[in-house]
Amino acid sequence: MSDTLPPCPRCASEYTYEMGDLVVCPECAHEWSPSEEAEAAESAAIKDSNGNVLTDGDDVVIIKDLKVKGAGGGTIKVGTKVRGIRLSPGVGDHDIEAKVDGFGQMQLKSSIVRKA
Ligand SMILES: [Zn+2]
Repeated sequence: MSDTLPPCPRCASEYTYEMGDLVVCPECAHEWSPSEEAEAAESAAIKDSNGNVLTDGDDVVIIKDLKVKGAGGGTIKVGTKVRGIRLSPGVGDHDIEAKVDGFGQMQLKSSIVRKA
């Protein structure tokens, strides 16, 4: 038995207890498996095109020409380096926010970058 059970992911109650492989919340009756919870967090991680997990502040390289709509427009070329990305799950597949030289702050897809 461990004294450091995680709080309930549903109602944030701290009065959770273990029952076999599960953790149970007495307040909202939610039952879950801490190991599955960890796997879910892993699969929710934002990864680059090579499957490397990206983190805030990483530098990445664009691996595909990107047409930019709106003000000015233009194309972000393959190989463009983007410094200091911020993970920011947004609209559609856009899950990275970063400042691109010459284009300014924009949203990118993790699937079209790789870790620099
Ligand atoms: Zn609960």
